Amino acid sequence: MIINNTGKITKDFYSIGNPAIPVYLMDGVRPVIFDAGFAFLGEIYAKEIKNILGSRHPEYLFLTHAHFDHCGSVSILKKYFPSMKVIASEKAKNILGRPNAIKLIKELNQASEQTARDVGVDFNPLDVFESFEVDITVKDEDVIEISDELNIHVIETPGHTSDCLSYYIPEKKILLSSEAAGQPDRSGYIVSDCLLDYDQYYNSMKKLSLLDVKVLCLGHLFVYTNDVAGKYIQESMLECERFRKLVELCLDEEDGDHERVKIRIKKIEYDSNEGPKQPEPAYLLNLEARIKAVEKRMNNNLR
Ligand SMILES: [Zn+2]
Repeated sequence: MIINNTGKITKDFYSIGNPAIPVYLMDGVRPVIFDAGFAFLGEIYAKEIKNILGSRHPEYLFLTHAHFDHCGSVSILKKYFPSMKVIASEKAKNILGRPNAIKLIKELNQASEQTARDVGVDFNPLDVFESFEVDITVKDEDVIEISDELNIHVIETPGHTSDCLSYYIPEKKILLSSEAAGQPDRSGYIVSDCLLDYDQYYNSMKKLSLLDVKVLCLGHLFVYTNDVAGKYIQESMLECERFRKLVELCLDEEDGDHERVKIRIKKIEYDSNEGPKQPEPAYLLNLEARIKAVEKRMNNNLR
């Protein structure tokens, strides 16, 4: 099944806020949440979490990576749930300790308010991003015991960014891959978001494809369950190879001219996308990084 809305996904497991920028909640003896979306949705996330948990608080907030649309509301959620501990990778902690990164995350959250208005999302413009502490750092193969029946396995999945983590809950066969796996738009086209490195990105998906998954939570828009969940990562790997071959072909045909390559690829994956989608400047900036990731490989004679 493909779930494109927020609400209950399976027993004790919820998608919160807005499907484009969700927070995931696992209820239980010690409730936990995953990712923290946009700053200006912080109050909405907190209220929905409170509706489910009552007077209980999430014990941990697991961050997948330090992109602005995944850690935006941490400081707001901390105000509502002061005892909640923030968990992320060492690399994410380092990024979040840099003043220039904090400035950029703040600016990008504010710039996204217009996108929220465009798609008619309710939000509180007074909630702005503020820096926060990562309380606990985790690395590949760490296991965080939540209860006798629930453990959260940490999987390092670099490639989208260097700090990317995925989380797997074997007892429930839930995988929170965030943007380590390709991101489909509403038409089903999968965007291969290898911003940092193509091979790392592909190999991270390969690692995730070995897991037994019944619920797959992507970074944006969709949760896949049962058969669809099991097949998605492999589909995303195929799409990633297709994207690489397309970039290679375009770079060959356009004599390495990135501007012309970008126009051709944008036509295929952005212009035809009816949305919701990133603002065009953000898309083009990311596309440049994705083209460079493939070009770097070609320059090393890898094809
Ligand atoms: Zn990201």
